[in-house]
Formats: sequence, C-alpha cells, structure tokens
Amino acid sequence: MIRVTEDTYFHKGLRKKLIDTLRSKGIKDEKVLDAINAVPRHYFLDQALVKIAYEDRAFPIDHGQTISQPYTVAFQSELLEIKKYDKVLEVGTGSAYQATVLGALGAQVFTIERQEGLFKEVKKYYPFKSKYPLIKFFFGDGYKGLPTYGPFDKIIITAGAPSLPEKLLEQLKPNGILVAPLGEGEQQIMTRYKKGPKGGVKIETFGEFSFVPMLQGVAGK
Ligand code: SAH
Repeated sequence: MIRVTEDTYFHKGLRKKLIDTLRSKGIKDEKVLDAINAVPRHYFLDQALVKIAYEDRAFPIDHGQTISQPYTVAFQSELLEIKKYDKVLEVGTGSAYQATVLGALGAQVFTIERQEGLFKEVKKYYPFKSKYPLIKFFFGDGYKGLPTYGPFDKIIITAGAPSLPEKLLEQLKPNGILVAPLGEGEQQIMTRYKKGPKGGVKIETFGEFSFVPMLQGVAGK
C-alpha cells in the first residue's frame, strides 16, 4: 500500500463536505464532527483511493479487511459519549481510522487487532504516532480484551460479533459504556450497554449496520 501524507486544501475541502453529509444523516455531536474533520482519512487508504477517500462509504484495506464508513465511525463515536482522557478499548484496529478519531476526541485508546499482518503494518506506518501518543496498538484476540490494561471507561467493537463477549463487559468500569454491532448474519444491530454504578446494565439498540465478522483467536499473515 502506498500512502499519501499530505493534507492539502483539496482534502480539507472534501472533508468539510463529508461533515455536511454526516450532519444531514443525523450526526449531531459537534465534538465528533470536529474530530472527523481533524483526521485526514486519505492517510489510511492507498493513494489510488485518495480522491474518493471522503465519500461516505467503507473501503477495502490490506488483508481482506475494511476501513469503516465515516457515518459508522461517527455514529459509534457519538454513542460512546467520549470525555477527554477516557480509557477506551477498541476491538478491531483495522486501518486505525476509528482509533484516530477517538484519539482526536481526547481519549486514551487501547486498540487490538487479531490479524498479524495488519497489526504490524499499522505499528510500522501509523502516521500520527507523535500527534496522538495516547493511542496504543496491541496484537491479540479481542474476545479476551486487555485485562491487564483495564478496566475501561468505554469499549467499542468494530467487527460484527455474534453475541456480546462477556469478558469485555467484565472489563468495563461502573458507569462505563460499551458499543458493539451484534448479530449472526450479514447485518448486525448496533447495541449500547451502559453499566450502572453498581454493575447493573441498561441495553439500547440503534438499527442495522454491516461489519466484517469478529473472529475467534489470532491469525498470521
Ligand atoms: N476500526 C477499523 C475497522 C475495522 S474492520 C477502522 O477504523 O478501519 C474490523 C477489524 O476487526 C478487522 O481488521 C479484523 O481483522 C478485526 N477483528 C476481527 N475479529 C477480531 C478479534 N477477535 N480481535 C481483534 N480484532 C478482530
């Protein structure tokens, strides 16, 4: 993959249009819109896709995975109600675009990827190491979470899980929020779990989305 790492007025202009699109689709949280506006999405895609990087759609990245649609990234970020310095666990680093948007929202991000090749590529070429030093990358199985780094204020799953991984809910702090697309089929239901101060959980659902599957275990190159 060849990356472009220049953010010109052309790209900034396209990003402004994307923000208008996200607003028209119902994203209201100004902090989330600002964060999306702050992150050059074309840095996460092959140079061949630069001109269309700001269309509101998912794209293929290496290793058969995808970079999520901006609307989906905005929607999940909004549901997480991120506050500055929140400790956030992300399952499914992929391109690291969602992780970077969370970083731009001021979160400390712990993001985990099961595909070794993808993990290594992100570790090596991540373009915002110095801009967002609070984003940390891990190779492993997201079903296990990161028990030694938890508990977390927020947890986001960016792959379609058949059902809620119990270990992740255990790693969520009281008053924490977990957002995950859940379901067995092609489509998943965006689901939000809010843990109460004593551990009780409130569940809300937010319509259908389509993600690549959350798989068990890790995979080599
Ligand atoms: N958040 C990403 C989109 C990721 S696509 C972005 O912004 O680009 C989903 C990713 O989840 C894929 O890279 C896939 O390899 C990864 N994944 C699937 N199952 C996983 C698991 N059990 N643990 C960690 N990552 C997983």
